[in-house]
Amino acid sequence: MRVYLDNAATTPLDSAVLDAMLPYLRNNYGNPSSIHSHGREARSAIEKARKTIAGLLNASPGEIFFTAGGTEADNMAISCSIASHNITHAVTTQLEHHAVLHCLQHNQQQRNLDVTYLHTNKQGLIDLAELEEVLAKRPGSFVSLMHANNEVATMNPIARIAEICKATNSPFHSDTVQTMGHYPIDCTALSLDFLTGSGHKFHGPKGTGFVYINSRMKIHPFIHGGAQERNMRGGTENVAGIAGLAKALEIAVTEQEAHRRHITALKARMIERLKASIEEISFNGDSGNVENSLYTVLNLSLPASEVGDMLLFSLDIAGISASGGSACSSGSEIGSHVLRGINADPARGAVRFSFSKYNTPDEIDYACEKVAELYPAGVRLEQV
Ligand code: PLP
Repeated sequence: MRVYLDNAATTPLDSAVLDAMLPYLRNNYGNPSSIHSHGREARSAIEKARKTIAGLLNASPGEIFFTAGGTEADNMAISCSIASHNITHAVTTQLEHHAVLHCLQHNQQQRNLDVTYLHTNKQGLIDLAELEEVLAKRPGSFVSLMHANNEVATMNPIARIAEICKATNSPFHSDTVQTMGHYPIDCTALSLDFLTGSGHKFHGPKGTGFVYINSRMKIHPFIHGGAQERNMRGGTENVAGIAGLAKALEIAVTEQEAHRRHITALKARMIERLKASIEEISFNGDSGNVENSLYTVLNLSLPASEVGDMLLFSLDIAGISASGGSACSSGSEIGSHVLRGINADPARGAVRFSFSKYNTPDEIDYACEKVAELYPAGVRLEQV
């Protein structure tokens, strides 16, 4: 049996998405910037995709800008707003994806940006009072806080954060890469400034994504050299990818509730089975909280420092794809910055399982069986 439980890293392409892309890979190969009929056909596919995505997120089409994925979308939102508005201070946490953290660090080096990292608790939650305090002292700061953490499943209350930011005229960017398509997102109701999506996290093609930019927010172009994406991102568009991205989001949003129920049940099943067979198990961050965490992610915490990597390797041999991470850095960059950020015990190993609509209860049972087999109840790895 081969079981894929690494859906937070990437998801398999939906066959309906592939069908939506194929015409633009086979016959409709025009350059969307060309004015002849081949070009117009490609342009029309892009604008249709933009309209679809805007409709699904209650945004207007002019607020959606296509990018080559989540990392680029995060970089565009962060770097362009900091440069365009001469922002001198940003607020975030140590638990953000590197697409955010490294981009902010780059702006620290290049533009002397001052960055405040909010405290997070064991679950990875921020204290909203601390955010209010920081912004009261420094209104107009750039705030970047993700909707859901890709490693430990903690969810930030982005609607509340958006209100706090708005009250102090602080632009708010939320990395919604892990929640896009998995949770209802209403841009108009949320009233934030930027959010980001990545096609391959919801059964779309890799290397596709978008940034939503609230129409009240004006920023300078990100990539120079062409008038594409209304001058904001030069370069010939990935027409097939954009068509696939829109189709993938359409399916994800339309079938969201059914997928949420299915995946939440898989996660609850895994927690229950693992708890029954491994006495010393716990779950990193908020991921063991079935009600309130990102339902697609479960991050196991197991005793013994080697267990994480050895278990991953053994799981792979047993046909199970998961991902790892340990809080232990051993003086190098090895290990998860998120687990370090929540002060996870460096002596324990971590394995992240992440689920999709294609996973089945049988696959979960198989994975639990293998984890229990490889990690017998009550027996520490170093003793076996
Ligand atoms: N942000 C988060 C929270 C992610 O989980 C990821 C991907 O793992 C990214 C950004 C980057 O997205 P992409 O792979 O499309 O560049």
